[in-house]
Amino acid sequence: MAGVYIHIPFCKQACYYCNFHFSTSTKLVPALMNGILKEIEWRKNYLEEEPVETIYFGGGTPSIITTQNLQRIIEKIKDTFSVTTTAEITLEANPDDICEDKLIEWREIGINRLSIGIQSFEDADLRWMNRAHTANQSINCLQLATKYFTNISIDLIYGSPTLSNEQWKKNVDYALAFHIPHLSCYALTVETKTVLAILIDKQKKENIDTNKQAVQFELLMDWLHIAGLEHYEISNFAKPGFRSKHNSSYWNGKLYAGFGPSAHSFNRHSRQWNIANNALYIQSIEKGELNFEKEILSPTQQLNEYIMTRLRTKEGINFLDDQWLATDDTTKNEIILSAKKWETTGDIFFDNNFFCLTNKGKFLADGIAADLFR
Ligand code: SF4
Repeated sequence: MAGVYIHIPFCKQACYYCNFHFSTSTKLVPALMNGILKEIEWRKNYLEEEPVETIYFGGGTPSIITTQNLQRIIEKIKDTFSVTTTAEITLEANPDDICEDKLIEWREIGINRLSIGIQSFEDADLRWMNRAHTANQSINCLQLATKYFTNISIDLIYGSPTLSNEQWKKNVDYALAFHIPHLSCYALTVETKTVLAILIDKQKKENIDTNKQAVQFELLMDWLHIAGLEHYEISNFAKPGFRSKHNSSYWNGKLYAGFGPSAHSFNRHSRQWNIANNALYIQSIEKGELNFEKEILSPTQQLNEYIMTRLRTKEGINFLDDQWLATDDTTKNEIILSAKKWETTGDIFFDNNFFCLTNKGKFLADGIAADLFR
């Protein structure tokens, strides 16, 4: 089984913390649409005829483009690949793009899952992040979206200076009150070269307090555990049956093809990524070629990739996984030895057939994974 990702690189305004690829000018939408449709056609063999069970529109802000354009892409994917009849088709949408008419249209063209960029229900917090929507829009869009979709995920951000623990609780309570079955919750990170990094550097914005983030992450895990959501990946929580199939395929090492500027693809042995520039992406396609870089993954890189992704999941490193079974005994013993060190500090938990991160270890996931790398 395989997945398809489409990157729609346009946004209404730039959130201060964002380091994704996007443009706030939509004048290239028509040319980019033609480019994406051509790229899908050209790369029809990338997925090695594996059935596609997930399609994911990410960005940027895919809800910014017309339903007709979304439909053209879905149809092209269906014409090109063998898409299963039960495929999960997710659209990332921002609250300020959501209205009753669009929800009905999206459902009609086959979108069956929404991932809504709520981030917060607090105006001060949204302003601090320079989000394009207000707290009222966060609430109103969920009132509407839950009328038309049952499979909904919302993104929430914690750990900003404007979010107290009480307000964080209020944000999570809103999600629970709307019976949202999937939550993706991220600690606000200050990525280099973002507007946020520059503003903090110039002391125009308060820096992030990582201790506060750790506390808010612990609170989150407690609240959602009580609410019956499964913590199945470090940043992701789901009611039974509502795990994201698309993101799970990344964590389970399945094939995926990404189309559009900056989109990544993975076929187990190599990884490739398109140029992160709308004009250059379009220019290259108009010349009949695709502008991308490719990295062939060595066996060690494949193993490290596996450690990195699997350690973030509830299932952890399973001794029956193909990748683990294909690893030589000396390397496996070295990894287990390193993991045992983290067991003594209470960051890793060992069971008969697997080991995984404890709640304490989850906040240190990247560092622990790097320590286990070969
Ligand atoms: S809406 Fe998303 S992609 Fe666009 S600027 Fe904000 S965080 Fe980045």
